[in-house]
Amino acid sequence: MRRGSLPADAVLLGSGGAGTAVLHQLALALERGSCAGGARRAPLRVVVVDPLDRLVERPADRTWCSWVERGSAAEAALAPAVHRAWGSVHVVAPDGADLPLDLGRLRYAMVRGEDYYAHVASLVERARERGALEVEHLATTADGVREDGAGAVVTTGSGEVRASLVLDSRPAPPVRAATSSLVQHFLGERVRVAVAGVDPGRAVLMDFSVPQPPTGLAFGYCLPTDASTALVEHTAFVPELLDGATQAAELAAYRERVLGTSGGVVEHSETGAIPMTDAVFSRRACPPPGLVRSRVLRLGTAGGAVRPSTGYAFSAMQRGARALADQLVGGVAGDRVDLPRPYPRRHAWMDALVLRGLLAGPGGGGLDGPDFFVRLFRRNPADRVLRFLDGLTPPREELALMSTAPLGPMLRATAADAGARASRLAGGRER
Ligand SMILES: Cc1cc2nc3c(=O)[nH]c(=O)nc-3n(C[C@H](O)[C@H](O)[C@H](O)COP(=O)(O)OP(=O)(O)OC[C@H]3O[C@@H](n4cnc5c(N)ncnc54)[C@H](O)[C@@H]3O)c2cc1C
Repeated sequence: MRRGSLPADAVLLGSGGAGTAVLHQLALALERGSCAGGARRAPLRVVVVDPLDRLVERPADRTWCSWVERGSAAEAALAPAVHRAWGSVHVVAPDGADLPLDLGRLRYAMVRGEDYYAHVASLVERARERGALEVEHLATTADGVREDGAGAVVTTGSGEVRASLVLDSRPAPPVRAATSSLVQHFLGERVRVAVAGVDPGRAVLMDFSVPQPPTGLAFGYCLPTDASTALVEHTAFVPELLDGATQAAELAAYRERVLGTSGGVVEHSETGAIPMTDAVFSRRACPPPGLVRSRVLRLGTAGGAVRPSTGYAFSAMQRGARALADQLVGGVAGDRVDLPRPYPRRHAWMDALVLRGLLAGPGGGGLDGPDFFVRLFRRNPADRVLRFLDGLTPPREELALMSTAPLGPMLRATAADAGARASRLAGGRER
């Protein structure tokens, strides 16, 4: 045990997107608690274990985009870190047809990693000054976690940390393997052009008029931040890793088309591969023998926060972090703290059908990816589609959405999915 250290209320294993969201929401929940007169007597103690201290280093490692509801608590929480937000966006069909979309009560918000980390750092500092929060960062990797009746012990390169709760966002395998998976490959650049010519009002969410892969789909997008700067990305949902040179060439061609120049200064570039899968991830680790519930909760990608049909995770991570923060600040005991399901179960099923349909493709009786998304946006209010993709629609709206999806491919995907479930059940019974 590290000398002189008290047990922590929580250990964050990993402080990327999900871990930072927990610090953010904890600082806000403590602020709400003190405003309501219910301030804790002792500061909440959080130990963060991650080789990188993002609150200090503030790397420009990613740009998060997601939609938020106007006037909501989520919008207020993010507002100081939002770089730019749009009330309308465009989707471009494969033939170049433009669909302007009014987002209604939603706004599409861009949060740059470096701004988010700086904002969270300032909130954490404020909470520390008030004596409400103590955050200690251990710049090392965690080797493992063990549990006993009294709590959890995290083993790190610089000793052990005992805690009531462990919030683990390290990569973790699913508890049920995937039936259908794609990888979202993206490559993006923040570009500054010499002559102001970017329309800051025209944010393109998905432009399908780029060359399409044999299986899956591809789109470009362009999010202008002012008259001479834009984030331009190329994204592909494909079954296998995409060759980097091919994607760089696709991005260069798209960038030249939307910015009208191949020149300009690339201020920042980012790339990644996000799993889009119907694999099932557990939000709570298996308890060791003799214990009923584990105190180790899995967050972020490891806990299934990535929406299988889109690769978006940001707002689900924020929702989960807020639920955790409210319980921690409210004094819920470590093994009683719960992480809500990131998306309703029925959404996981619908996403599994979409993934199956995209993998089969139109040649195999499945979905034409670009046509599927364009059709959803053409036949539904944009905010309905976006709230669905965020897991926030009620069943009534989902029925309306489903009635606008192509019937044949979706029925074939449903039948194949039912077959796969039946054989999984039969396989389970045989074992
Ligand atoms: C470049 C990029 C752009 C993205 N843009 C969007 C977007 O616009 N909208 C959206 O909704 N989603 C987006 N995503 C998807 C998703 O929001 C991010 O991947 C998000 O960062 C996931 O958070 P996470 O905490 O699960 O994983 P990560 O952010 O990867 O964090 C995991 C952390 O665990 C740490 N770690 C790993 N092993 C150990 C160990 N043994 N001990 C201690 N620490 C460890 C790592 O150092 C890392 O800091 C993007 C992803 C990337 C990569």
